[in-house]
Amino acid sequence: MTVALMNTYQPLALSFTKGLGTRLWDQAGREYLDAVAGVAVTNVGHSHPRIVSAISEQAGLLLHTSNLYSIDWQQQLAKRLTALSGMQRAFFNNSGAEANETALKLARLYGWRKGIEQPLVVVMANAFHGRTLGTLSASDGPAVRLGFNELPGDFVKVPFGDLAALEQVQRKHGARIVAILVEPIQGESGVQIAPPGYLKALRELCNRHGWLLMLDEIQTGIGRTGRWFAFQHEGIVPDVMTLAKGLGNGVPIGACLARGHAADLFTPGSHGSTFGGNPLACRVGCTVLDIIEEQGLLENARVQGERLLERLRAELADNPNVLATRGQGLMIGVELKQPVRDLTLIAARDHGLLINVTRGKTIRLLPPLTIDEREVGMIVRGVGRALSSAPSV
Ligand SMILES: *Cc1c(COP(=O)(O)O)cnc(C)c1O
Repeated sequence: MTVALMNTYQPLALSFTKGLGTRLWDQAGREYLDAVAGVAVTNVGHSHPRIVSAISEQAGLLLHTSNLYSIDWQQQLAKRLTALSGMQRAFFNNSGAEANETALKLARLYGWRKGIEQPLVVVMANAFHGRTLGTLSASDGPAVRLGFNELPGDFVKVPFGDLAALEQVQRKHGARIVAILVEPIQGESGVQIAPPGYLKALRELCNRHGWLLMLDEIQTGIGRTGRWFAFQHEGIVPDVMTLAKGLGNGVPIGACLARGHAADLFTPGSHGSTFGGNPLACRVGCTVLDIIEEQGLLENARVQGERLLERLRAELADNPNVLATRGQGLMIGVELKQPVRDLTLIAARDHGLLINVTRGKTIRLLPPLTIDEREVGMIVRGVGRALSSAPSV
């Protein structure tokens, strides 16, 4: 551990020097299968040749001009994303938290235009929306919020998937509510999937009361669940959607998309970003979309995701510590009854497999959308063996 860095992370004693496709190599030259993908970021794989040449070509042409001038790649990416999602307008920034800040500002403006003095946004128990003051206030759990004064009175929290609780909140606070902010699948809190029809019911509730439906697709978007965006499984369209992680495949970029009223709320001066939407990040974003289309990665995420889920369930059927295995596309969680000590280290060291554990006891698998059947088998065997050799806490 180096004392020159603030004490915010607890990294494994493992450091990589090279990546290609689904694989990473450490300083000693050892190869690993990456089933984390930088937390759902490198969706098209490491060092994809198309991304490498987009970055190097653009770096040789132009990195940054600021939004004082129009940026062709930014307009192109906005066009592509709105066409894929059914949204109308995009705003670009540099991270997921910033994209959600943009959404929260839209919600406030929406309330202000309606003459609502103290607008409330409905958020979910166990939500994760980021680490800025605004987004941590919209998130849940002491790991994110402890020691920080939250923004007072901006949010009202309901259990994820619970429509009755929402109706209750509507009766109590209806006049102040302006929006619902929700992750289609809660990633950080352990791949929690809402009951079928939940998003549709939220859509109807928002229509009925004139609220904005704002989806945080930062983790679920850009093909992760086997569609471009997770809401497309449910046949609805949100009013606002946020993206980040997979959009730049490792180049920082975030986006907030909107349609209808929400798309027309900002006026010049109401929001901005120095770096946001620069030619490099937006060109890479366009290239990511090209690769997903040309390599058929949505289909691959669906097929390999189903295979991975099915084989994990078979492999872990007799494991007494496994409570549930669930997922959609290539976003899969294995919830354990008891936490397992050093599980990520054991998987990496003994089985050459990178996995993530979230909230202490859910193994989260987020491999690149490019994985093949053989790699699905490697993940299943690696997880099975790591679980059977690791000591319980
Ligand atoms: C990762 C994540 C964020 C935060 O993104 P950052 O880029 O770390 O700010 C927000 N919401 C969800 C659902 C995420 O998975």
